[in-house]
Amino acid sequence: MKSTPFWSRVLVLSLLLSATESGSLSSKAASIADIKPPQNLNAERKELFEKTSLVSGIPWTYLAAVDQYERTMNVAKKRNVHQRITNIYFTDSEWTGLLNPDQQDTSPKSISFFHGFGRDGSGDGIADRNNDLDLLAAMAQLMTKNGTQEENLQINLWNYYQNSRSVERIKQFATIFGTLNTLDVGEHAFPLPVNADYSYRSTWGDNRGWGGHRSHEGTDLFARYGVPVRSTCYGIIEVKGWNPYGGWRIGIRDASNIYHYYAHLSGFQKEIKENDVVKPGQIIGWVGSSGYGKPGTSGKFPPHLHFGLYRDNGLTEWSFDPYPSLRKWEREERSKRKN
Ligand SMILES: [Zn+2]
Repeated sequence: MKSTPFWSRVLVLSLLLSATESGSLSSKAASIADIKPPQNLNAERKELFEKTSLVSGIPWTYLAAVDQYERTMNVAKKRNVHQRITNIYFTDSEWTGLLNPDQQDTSPKSISFFHGFGRDGSGDGIADRNNDLDLLAAMAQLMTKNGTQEENLQINLWNYYQNSRSVERIKQFATIFGTLNTLDVGEHAFPLPVNADYSYRSTWGDNRGWGGHRSHEGTDLFARYGVPVRSTCYGIIEVKGWNPYGGWRIGIRDASNIYHYYAHLSGFQKEIKENDVVKPGQIIGWVGSSGYGKPGTSGKFPPHLHFGLYRDNGLTEWSFDPYPSLRKWEREERSKRKN
């Protein structure tokens, strides 16, 4: 059984070399985590993924996407992974091996013997489940089991997560990060131009939403026909087309694994296609009253934008009240316009 693959040794080397340039990598990481400027932490992350990419052959966007997916799962499953740069998470038995009698094992040799995922990426001889470099090395190794082609990465990820949704999300996140060439994708915008004439109130859970929503999972923003509808986030177009209730609707997945849903549009921005990456404020369509019938049905209720937000926990998706987010994004954009 080979315990240390070639690239893993190279990774250790290159990271050690880079660490000598600016003090040890882990102490640098710790000091950044203390101050917590999210922009810098993302820059640090990107650099780490780019370095791991060089030695593992995995595109940095895929490493970033897996890390990001793990982060959204940590949020959904309320796992505690503070004091780290990466968000990759393994359980004890995943790390040390299911049949390993020592579930706190940190020896790369015996972990490998028991087929655990744990690896030593930092070069200290210890496979530490809370060390960023060890976690990255472990994840990179399981991702490249059958090669580094995108197709192989996806197969390996499927084997690991046993869930096609997970692989789909990771592909989407990789596309978002790759297209924008950054991990700073947390900005938002209000779905309508804030200087337009519109009105909305909290209608969460109302059993009489407009446009055939049986229990009202969203907020209705009333505005005139043709008012632009804009993306509320950096994200990828997941769905675009007709739905009997939603009419002409668009669904955008953001990198926090939140699905932004826009319904009853009068039409779509023509250039927008599924799998396109969009930015906050980018026009995706126009307010209308489509829906509640066969494709093209319109005018069965007053024109409005139905806006919904859904969170994914890896297995299912559930909607949550978008009203507080809408108020926040509206406020932020109004204050930006004043400055
Ligand atoms: Zn609605």
